[in-house]
Amino acid sequence: MSSEEAAKKILHYEEGENGVEDLTFKRRSSDQKLVAHQPIYGLGKGPSAPNHLVRLARTCRIFNILDHLNFESILDVGGAEGFTAYRAQKLYGCSAMSVDYSLSANKAAGETFGLPNVAIDASFLPFKDNSFDVVLCTEVIEHTKDAAMAILQLARVAKKCVIISTMEATPSQLERAIALRLLHRDWRDGWTQNWFSPSDFHALVGADAKVESQLFIKDYPWNRNEAKLAPEEARQVVRALMGDGDFHHGSEGVLVHWLKDPSCWRTEARHGEESLLNQIVGYPGIENDPTLPQTGRWPEPSLDLMQCPVCWGKLHSGTGDQLLCGNGHTFTQEEGVYNFHPAYLTEHAAAVFEQILQTQVAQLGSRTQAIRKIRNYLTRPRPQPSAIEIKALGLGAKAARFALHPVDAVRFKLGISVSPFQQLPNYKLPNLELPYG
Ligand SMILES: [Zn+2]
Repeated sequence: MSSEEAAKKILHYEEGENGVEDLTFKRRSSDQKLVAHQPIYGLGKGPSAPNHLVRLARTCRIFNILDHLNFESILDVGGAEGFTAYRAQKLYGCSAMSVDYSLSANKAAGETFGLPNVAIDASFLPFKDNSFDVVLCTEVIEHTKDAAMAILQLARVAKKCVIISTMEATPSQLERAIALRLLHRDWRDGWTQNWFSPSDFHALVGADAKVESQLFIKDYPWNRNEAKLAPEEARQVVRALMGDGDFHHGSEGVLVHWLKDPSCWRTEARHGEESLLNQIVGYPGIENDPTLPQTGRWPEPSLDLMQCPVCWGKLHSGTGDQLLCGNGHTFTQEEGVYNFHPAYLTEHAAAVFEQILQTQVAQLGSRTQAIRKIRNYLTRPRPQPSAIEIKALGLGAKAARFALHPVDAVRFKLGISVSPFQQLPNYKLPNLELPYG
């Protein structure tokens, strides 16, 4: 496989009729509406990926952090159709940018929400240091080829706060090692490639990063027709889904936030939890949102914030729809979206990684060795385990759970206080007819 073919196979690129294509964000329903990844049509509505309440619970968790920050700009890395960046823009009056690996996701974010965007590889962000007050990256790092470098990039371009969520997290190093070893070997690019434990974030993001439980979803009835829930019922489910406190066994996923500038934290919330819940769960959808831009076009990304992702040089316009740096690295616009992950990018991974370590050394300090170790660990080749090894690892995972967190493990097993859904009225709803298979 050529390096160009390999690069195209990364996140969201799937086998199409013409070989490997960027299909996920190009899908259209029978009435030609964008098939969305995020709940952009409102709760349970529109042709979109199911389980909106889980997505909205995650969004509420994130916004409860944003609600305590003073900030004027946000970057959502891996932002899909731009739903989260757009909601942040409306709720906090900040400037917002949504960037994604997929060119068509960027195009959707531009056309739907009028957000400036560029196609990126999270490990090679084309932004200057400290260029956005808040940098958000949700359910992305588990898919990246070089997650350690991607996380360092998030911390580099953030000025005040970094927020990361991933469902692929275990409370201990031992469980993480088992989970990594058990990862599907036949993965396509874009499938889960990484697992994390809290200490990874303390090394990569910041020693004082907060690593909290993201969600409680044990026994959650997936793929239900959530449009049938009354608003108050929907809010109850979202409340029940939201995690809090330190990450522990029994919760799923982590929500990490790090204050690069602690002075941006405000004790008083800007909206408050109840108001956020109403505004996020109650979003009327793009077809009923009068504040949506009507032009279908989006502002150009500001070159003042950007730099060459390879040599970090200044970018200027070239002939046609191109941006280039003084060292001749060129980035071409396709369908109105600048592509900042040309195939040659990965050849520069080692150099860019060293550059990050050097320029951030004051902040990273004694963590540099730990960072190298985590990166080597996550990127080294992992041969397919044998059937016997898979069996043994499965048993090992169970044993580790009971040995390391006996109280949580028993509670989880018995369903005590980790699955509040059974108590909720109408939680059993008919299955959705999904807009695609
Ligand atoms: Zn360059």
